[in-house]
Amino acid sequence: MTSYIEIIKNSYQSYAAYLWHEISNPSWHNYFYWLILLSVAAMTLEWMFPWRKQQAKIREDFWLDAFYMFFNFFLFSLIAYNAISDVFVKLFNDFLSWFGIHNLVALEISNWPGWVQLLVMFILRDFIQWNVHRMLHFVPSLWEFHKVHHSVQQMGFAAHLRYHFMETFIYRAAEYIPLAMIGFGLQDFFIVHIIALAIGHLNHSNIYLPLGPLQYLFNSPQMHIWHHAEHLPPKSYGVNFGLSLSLWDYLFKTVYMPSSGRDEELGFEQVQAYPKSFMGHLVAPFKKLFVKTP
Ligand SMILES: [Zn+2]
Ligand SMILES: [Zn+2]
Repeated sequence: MTSYIEIIKNSYQSYAAYLWHEISNPSWHNYFYWLILLSVAAMTLEWMFPWRKQQAKIREDFWLDAFYMFFNFFLFSLIAYNAISDVFVKLFNDFLSWFGIHNLVALEISNWPGWVQLLVMFILRDFIQWNVHRMLHFVPSLWEFHKVHHSVQQMGFAAHLRYHFMETFIYRAAEYIPLAMIGFGLQDFFIVHIIALAIGHLNHSNIYLPLGPLQYLFNSPQMHIWHHAEHLPPKSYGVNFGLSLSLWDYLFKTVYMPSSGRDEELGFEQVQAYPKSFMGHLVAPFKKLFVKTP
């Protein structure tokens, strides 16, 4: 037991040092500064080319979502850092060896060209995320957590990172094992994550992004707004689940874009009664799941 406490203590101490190094050393391999850069870029686009022209430049809930961006950034980097740390990898391998599994790498792709590795990782990860996202809608208890993301009523880039912290655990856990099976390292994960961050920011932005034939491959603001629409087709548990790619929705027939969607009402049934604060969002799913109301 003491060895586990020691491991946790060491890992948090080294995470604190890593985080401080990240923030005090701006560089191209620094997620913190990428988040700021991409947010400023998305905001500039929204201000220059707004899709909903009457929407305020600092929209409803902007500051709440700005807070979410940094909160979820710190949590993400904590999880990602620990997930790829030697300590966690060792624990994970020890855990597998209890079941007689000694090597999880099923497909060694490290000698493929770098860009092919990145492409494979990007596509594979996006497909895993598409499936996880569907589960977040389909499984009632998971939907309680995902509702936080869908409580956005006026769309803008910062809404991208409004989500309950439990989602970070759910997504990272679902991604980790398949990606470990093809032996990916930290650097690859970083690049793929930044690309997905940029696309996700754009998809939530108040801009119109005509993609032409590329709309069958990539998600867009005019597609993702329907994902957030309050009124969905009857009996549907959700539409347009794609994160970076729209391809999966076209392949599995979960696309729904009946009209422009620009002024569509967003949220879910009785969204007006949903908590409006960060703390309210934090506890809402737990209350719903564990506190019996008479
Ligand atoms: Zn969703
Ligand atoms: Zn969204």
